[in-house]
Amino acid sequence: MNTKKPAIREAKTSALVTTTAPAGTRAMLRRIFSENIGSFKKEYTLIVICLLIVAVTTAFAAWIMRDVIDQIFYSKRADLIGIISLSIMAAFFIRGIASYIQAVAMARVGNAMVARYQRRLFSHLMTLGFDFYSSTRSAQLAARIAENIGGIRDVMSTTISAFARDLVTLIGLVGVMIFQDPVLSLSALIIGPPLLITVAYVMRRVRAIARQAVEINSRLLGAMQETVQGMTIVKAFTMEQQLEQKLDQLVAYAENRANKIAAVSERTGPVAEMLAGFAVAGVVAYGGYRALHYGQSPGATFSFITALLLAYDPARRLAKLQVNLERALVNAHMVYEILDMPAGQAEQDGQTVFKPAKGEIQFENVTFGYQPELPVLRDLSLIAKGGKTLALVGPSGAGKSTIVSMVLGFHKPQTGQILIDGQDVAHLNRKSLRGSIAYVSQQAYMFEGTVRDNIRYGRPDASDAEVEEAARLAEADEFIRLMPQGYDTPLGENGSTVSGGQRQRLSIARAIVRNAPILLLDEATSALDTESERKVQTALEGLMKNRTTIVIAHRLSTIKNADVILVMEEGRIVESGTHTALLKRKNGAYARLNATGTLVAEEGIST
Ligand code: ADP
Repeated sequence: MNTKKPAIREAKTSALVTTTAPAGTRAMLRRIFSENIGSFKKEYTLIVICLLIVAVTTAFAAWIMRDVIDQIFYSKRADLIGIISLSIMAAFFIRGIASYIQAVAMARVGNAMVARYQRRLFSHLMTLGFDFYSSTRSAQLAARIAENIGGIRDVMSTTISAFARDLVTLIGLVGVMIFQDPVLSLSALIIGPPLLITVAYVMRRVRAIARQAVEINSRLLGAMQETVQGMTIVKAFTMEQQLEQKLDQLVAYAENRANKIAAVSERTGPVAEMLAGFAVAGVVAYGGYRALHYGQSPGATFSFITALLLAYDPARRLAKLQVNLERALVNAHMVYEILDMPAGQAEQDGQTVFKPAKGEIQFENVTFGYQPELPVLRDLSLIAKGGKTLALVGPSGAGKSTIVSMVLGFHKPQTGQILIDGQDVAHLNRKSLRGSIAYVSQQAYMFEGTVRDNIRYGRPDASDAEVEEAARLAEADEFIRLMPQGYDTPLGENGSTVSGGQRQRLSIARAIVRNAPILLLDEATSALDTESERKVQTALEGLMKNRTTIVIAHRLSTIKNADVILVMEEGRIVESGTHTALLKRKNGAYARLNATGTLVAEEGIST
């Protein structure tokens, strides 16, 4: 158990690339078992019973050989042929049925387990803060989740079948061997220790290589996924060859690791094989010698040899158990690494439930930097009055988006505080706070699902009519209706089947349907052409009425009518006022922005 702590500490420093050895095998096994056995008690009982039946019938097959030889062939008891043959048939029949039931039950439990961990991981990922996501590549994360959960399932199924089937079968067969010939058994069992030594050696090697292999595979899958996602850029910049070379190295390395694992883990094979050959040969020689010289009935020896041969498979599997388990545990460990991501990386949620009033937003001497030593906002104070519109302008990198994300509580101020309706954002329950905010981000993200689903993410209980009304206001209704299945058209990955402007209109519709008292618009209309921008602008103006709005924009049409415009430079507010008032200051920052074309005027709109 004491090995758990370093793993957690390490997870904090690096989300994906880890270097320490996996947590103690036993501790990990105990954890996986305690988390899963309870939920599948009935299924596991059934599986264990079936596996026991398989073990018993296998031992029976070896045991009956004595009677086959002694009674039928040696004593020529014709009357026993029927009953012995029938009992062999029955044993194999029962064994077949039990194997089948066991295999199906095991697969079902495995699938249920995978599903459970997928849900658990997904909901855990939702709680992790932005610091985790900025240090983790999403494609690698996805690959890792997909691959590694199988590890936990394999740990369970490997161990259970090893113990319930292989170990019990082996014990049964060794029992038959001892019963049939105790002296021979002793000589056959001396192959045990060398086998165990080999396994221990192989296991140590496999653990390290398996971890490298898992890591390289998730990087490989991640790289492929990223390349496919960015295919337009890849082709436009003719990056194909460079990427191919890069991928080639990863592929070669992955292949090399896979080969290495095979070479090392298969090392148990020849050793087991040689030792088994040695044992069988010894038994045949000694048994034959006794039968020929002392006239002992051959039945016992034959049954013994059958048991020995049948024991080979379960023994080999048991020998490889730890090796396979080791591989599965490496995967399982990586899943737990994410699940154990400590509170430092998880988003800390406040206890106080937000009570919205007018929606007044206030920054009081806020200093914040993504890296503590590099402040992005410097001692910044502002007030966005309830129901009014505040526009943020300034060169890119000034910190405008950071202000918006801090209103959402994505980041905490290093000093100062942010109040919404007098309540400190740092202590507010995130869900209650964000429930009162509609946000349109610079990148218009779309998710798996139809157009309707994507708008409805704004407010899950919105009716179809409300969704369509929002789309109409966002100037999206028209193009949606032209899509093959209208509102029920599935969107491609991240909305790749619609244009940038259309995506933006969909995300505006999502914000409209949310109907929240606070509206945050971060370059919400930047991808729209002048014509649709003007239309969406009208819709947004309607939406902004009686809502507190913080809008970041470069277009004068968006900013002009704001109640207050704040001009930002390098994390500070350098000017504030209305459009007309600010323009009057001839050498002011706003006038300069205007003169240098940083603020974009629309055709036909006088500035
Ligand atoms: P604006 O919206 O005015 O263009 P931002 O608020 O996006 O400015 O960014 C302000 C500064 O913070 C920039 O220097 C940017 O590089 C930095 N920054 C923004 N987001 C992050 C992030 N997630 N991690 C680190 N630095 C960031």
